[in-house]
Amino acid sequence: MCVFLISGPAMKASKDCVVSFHYALTVEGEPLEQSRDQGQPVQVLLGQGQVVEGMEKALEGRSKGDVFQLDLDPGQAYGERREQAIQRLSKKVFGKGARLVAGSAVTLRRKDGSTLQGMIHKVGMTTVDVDLNHPLAGKALHFDVEIMDVREATEEERAHGHVHGPGGHEH
Ligand code: ZN
Repeated sequence: MCVFLISGPAMKASKDCVVSFHYALTVEGEPLEQSRDQGQPVQVLLGQGQVVEGMEKALEGRSKGDVFQLDLDPGQAYGERREQAIQRLSKKVFGKGARLVAGSAVTLRRKDGSTLQGMIHKVGMTTVDVDLNHPLAGKALHFDVEIMDVREATEEERAHGHVHGPGGHEH
């Protein structure tokens, strides 16, 4: 339940609260992205694991208007890089005419039709090594966060496990 943790005018975010916030993400000193570029704040239904663990924890107990900074180790964010996540594939997999350059993004299709994002790590004579690590794996993340709103999730949102309305699912 989304509850008022402390009595007072401002609702404090907890599980089943919808938190709207703006963030700017900096990685290794480089500004990477900010939600204000998209206009809408990000909306998260707490308790659903929609954001990385460290962010989920940091949003708990926050109220509208809170501004804070957050530094996350890889373990609280996208995890460590795994060497096993670099897969060696035959060049044939990519078909003729594919532009195979280290550092470019590729989409791989599994047998069941689902897709997987990767990045070309190394191109050999007949093989291509594709890195399937999350691009932010192994990195410490720095966030500047401003809480724009905290509200109770609707029954429907709780049942679906995501936020509805502007900035959320429209269906
Ligand atoms: Zn829904």
